[in-house]
Amino acid sequence: SSLSPDAAADAAPVYSLEFFPPRDIAAQERLVRTAKQLQGLHPHFASVTFGAGGSTRDGTMLAVSMLQKLGYEAAPHLSCIGSTPESLRDILYAYRQAGIRRLVALRGDMPSGMGDMGELRYARDLVEFIRRETGDWFHIEVAAYPEMHPQAQGPEADLDRFVEKMQAGADSAITQYFFNADAYFDFVDRATAKGVLAPIVPGIMPITNYTQLARFSDMCGAEIPRWIRLRLASYGDDRASIRAFGHDVVTELCQTLLDGGAPGLHFYTMNQADATQAVWKELER
Ligand code: FAD
Repeated sequence: SSLSPDAAADAAPVYSLEFFPPRDIAAQERLVRTAKQLQGLHPHFASVTFGAGGSTRDGTMLAVSMLQKLGYEAAPHLSCIGSTPESLRDILYAYRQAGIRRLVALRGDMPSGMGDMGELRYARDLVEFIRRETGDWFHIEVAAYPEMHPQAQGPEADLDRFVEKMQAGADSAITQYFFNADAYFDFVDRATAKGVLAPIVPGIMPITNYTQLARFSDMCGAEIPRWIRLRLASYGDDRASIRAFGHDVVTELCQTLLDGGAPGLHFYTMNQADATQAVWKELER
């Protein structure tokens, strides 16, 4: 349960990867190459994102079975907003049938212009639904936001919603990415004080492309500290320098997190192997 620490939390850090479903054959081939390359690192599991509104439902399933064939423990993401309980139930049973034991349960975001939010409005509703439908079959991961979810009423309210979501039956959490280690430690301290002892694993975004990172960060409310922003911007089109600086920043962040007691690391690979692999290998030295 969310109120007792996972046995794994006391052991070696748990490393995991995140992929997104490929949109075409070429992207599919790229993902296979990436997944094969990263498998050499022996990640604990690999998760696959799920487009809100069901847009990539089949894509998620396909990528999950591809990863399973490669020998991964695959963990599909599942979002509830705009979905009916019936369609979610179908997906849960299909995953159980396929031997999936781990899910990342999310609210998701409404595509603009889509009206009906559906019956399950928050990730907490989805966690309760999954437990009702499938008992303890799945290990349930949920999302956490050390720098606050952008739509939250405030940091305290967001923390309370997070604690309720864990108490609804989640086993562990993965955070939105961040570059301020203190935000993570502060969040974990506050969650622990409210009784959450389950692992809260930092989500790590390797830095390879400044424009893309800046766009993502604005959308999801992750802060790129000023000194990092300025350094990245100063490299202009010099991708090698962006990668080299990004590698150093992210490796140092990961080391700080692990030294401070983070129970593992979850890498947002963006379906690319090199940046994640380089950081991981350096941490193992
Ligand atoms: P929730 O936990 O439901 O929280 C959403 C907001 O509602 C928060 O502001 C919270 O404070 C507030 N809230 C919660 N409960 C209540 C309540 N009862 N009353 C009022 N307010 C409340 N998106 C995808 O579409 N597909 C993915 O695969 C995906 N993967 C992700 C993986 C990770 C690790 C993370 C961190 C995010 C991912 N997202 C994904 C993005 C996520 O769907 C969005 O951040 C979304 O806006 C919130 O999802 P959530 O599960 O955190 O929502």
